[in-house]
Amino acid sequence: MTTIGTEELKLLFVRIAEAMAREKDRLCELDGVIGDADHGIAMELGFAAAAKAVSELDSSASDPTLVFNTAAKSFLNAVGASSGPLYATALMRAGAVAKGKSSLSDDDMVEVFSAFARGIQDRGKAEVGEKTMVDAWAPAAAACRAARDQGLSLADCLAAAFKAGEAGAEATKSMIAAKGRSSRLGDRALGHMDPGAASAVVIMACFRDHFT
Ligand code: ADP
Ligand code: MG
Ligand code: MG
Repeated sequence: MTTIGTEELKLLFVRIAEAMAREKDRLCELDGVIGDADHGIAMELGFAAAAKAVSELDSSASDPTLVFNTAAKSFLNAVGASSGPLYATALMRAGAVAKGKSSLSDDDMVEVFSAFARGIQDRGKAEVGEKTMVDAWAPAAAACRAARDQGLSLADCLAAAFKAGEAGAEATKSMIAAKGRSSRLGDRALGHMDPGAASAVVIMACFRDHFT
């Protein structure tokens, strides 16, 4: 049982921003094949802005909800691509789950992870199998919750989430897109991983590594 405080949450955003900077080119390349080649730029800009904004929050006056809501707002302002409103909604939902709490328990963190995934699905209305980031987030959230229900530690839950998300992203290679830009490609999108699913896995790896 751990307690996750605001400083640890702020650091999570710094870690995600660093990871997106490292993965930017790969994500742009993936988006270049079935989209408009900007996904790595969008994710790097969005999380860099989020990390900067949450780092500037006054530690004594901030709580987890403020951290997530601040991240949401700055992500949305920084990103013009479709990933902007999707992740902004995910982050706002995470903030709502944390409402009234000064720190987060392991169970809260599992709830945050689920709310994050749910927010993306509610905002974009994509179902599993439509070749989007939902194909990584939905199975990851389900695996995270199933692991928690079995009594596993948060670290093990997030490891299970990562694995399921990775398999989900891999599965997008054999899907035809039904949502987003790549839906115009029909079966020409076959064989290529969805960039949004790939960046989702990057975020999941950060969650896993940060809360171990
Ligand atoms: P844009 O397509 O506007 O350039 P990005 O390149 O940042 O935006 O993001 C593309 C990714 O967004 C896709 O790979 C896909 O995973 C995701 N995406 C697009 N539309 C949706 C949707 N309706 N629901 C969930 N994810 C979506
Ligand atoms: Mg794009
Ligand atoms: Mg674009």
